[in-house]
Amino acid sequence: MSCSGGVLPPKHLSIRKIRATLRERRYRMSRLITRIAPDVGWLPVSFANVYFIGRPGSKWVLIDAGLPGWAAEIFSAAEARFGAGSGPEAIVLSHGHIDHAGSALALAEMWEVPIYAHHLELPFLTGKSLYPPADPTVGGATAFLSRFLPVLRRNFGDRVRELRQQKVPGASGWQWLSTPGHSPGHICFFRSSDRVLLTGDALVSVDMDSWSGLLTAKPKLSGPPAPFTIDWESARASIRQLSNLRPNVIGCGHGLPMSDSDLAEHLEQFAQRFRVPRRGRYVRQPARTNENGIVDLPPAPFDPVPFATAAGLFCVGLALGAGYLDEKKRR
Ligand SMILES: [Zn+2]
Ligand SMILES: [Zn+2]
Repeated sequence: MSCSGGVLPPKHLSIRKIRATLRERRYRMSRLITRIAPDVGWLPVSFANVYFIGRPGSKWVLIDAGLPGWAAEIFSAAEARFGAGSGPEAIVLSHGHIDHAGSALALAEMWEVPIYAHHLELPFLTGKSLYPPADPTVGGATAFLSRFLPVLRRNFGDRVRELRQQKVPGASGWQWLSTPGHSPGHICFFRSSDRVLLTGDALVSVDMDSWSGLLTAKPKLSGPPAPFTIDWESARASIRQLSNLRPNVIGCGHGLPMSDSDLAEHLEQFAQRFRVPRRGRYVRQPARTNENGIVDLPPAPFDPVPFATAAGLFCVGLALGAGYLDEKKRR
């Protein structure tokens, strides 16, 4: 037919084009995944990291899911590594903060798989409760920025499930460890056969308290992101626990993976030196939560910055207003 003769070639072309685009995208994403240990891939998505555990052709798991809006990139990267249509057994979260769980639901729906988290994270992933509020008074670059971050309630519905055994579902040879402090049900992931450790935010490899650390991403073992850490004594104990594992490879939730020959010694020294911040809402008293969410919060310390900002804006407004009136008088 004349119409099909006119329509089909462009349609074929466009399908070919779409396939080529998808191939190109997978190729690009596959180049972005870095192998940090046998069967462990690392993909930075914005300023957070996700990890792929498993080998192509067999079961695999996604550890953490980045910020909201990164599902397509993570999906393409996974297809590049494991093949088209090869979804994971599960998505397992180190914790439920927005930069680690932001794209989890979208990915879980695409792959039709469950999302696993520690039971003390579930109230924050099922719409029952917000996380304890961020503490901008603890000091540092991320603390300053935390004032401007939106607070969102999230509900993953029946996609989210509680981690029960110490094993990581779908990742043989791996176990998860309870490492509370940064968040109530924070967990890390460890493979004892070659001592590979994925730390989430229990410790990170970039100094998020300093502006230069944030901007340059220079590798540096650092404590958990400060404004979102709700129990500093537990956070310190968790760092000691991780140091006792004497890892050969560390993949953190933020910053570059580390695998120096003296990494275990570095981590041990870091754990010994680590001190809780001198001031901050959760320094002397932690936030208390349970399986329903927040139980008790220490009072919020006075935060001078919003007042200083408001006063500054008021003065700028006054100056501009005065200038406008002067200009009007001159006319
Ligand atoms: Zn976090
Ligand atoms: Zn984080």
